[in-house]
Amino acid sequence: MTIFQKIIDRQIPADIVYEDELCLAFRDISPQAPTHVLVIPKRAIASLASLEAEDAPLLGHLCHTVAKIAKQLGLSNGYRVVVNCGPDGGQSVDHLHFHLLGGRPLQWPPG
Ligand code: 5GP
Repeated sequence: MTIFQKIIDRQIPADIVYEDELCLAFRDISPQAPTHVLVIPKRAIASLASLEAEDAPLLGHLCHTVAKIAKQLGLSNGYRVVVNCGPDGGQSVDHLHFHLLGGRPLQWPPG
């Protein structure tokens, strides 16, 4: 079981900023920007690479939810959304998650 599944199941605490029937959003424990939130599906999907075509509505919901949370958190000057996938992508938790980063100008390109 991943650490994110334990957060969904309320086995470990998290600073939850949004929840609905399909997804959960909480603050990253090691924030890389003034606002750093993780948005995850409640269904255990290991990564972006595990998605099936029929998951498109869930993905649409997640993307729309990320934008809704960004607005809710006042990121009116912009933000970045990142999905790390697999070892080369730097994914460290095998439960699909969108990083929502904002609150300062972000550098590009990433490392
Ligand atoms: P990844 O490296 O897989 O793209 O992102 C995983 C993220 O989960 C990291 O930014 C890391 O700081 C965050 N993280 C890992 N464990 C926990 C935890 O127990 N609680 C919270 N809130 N975030 C976590």
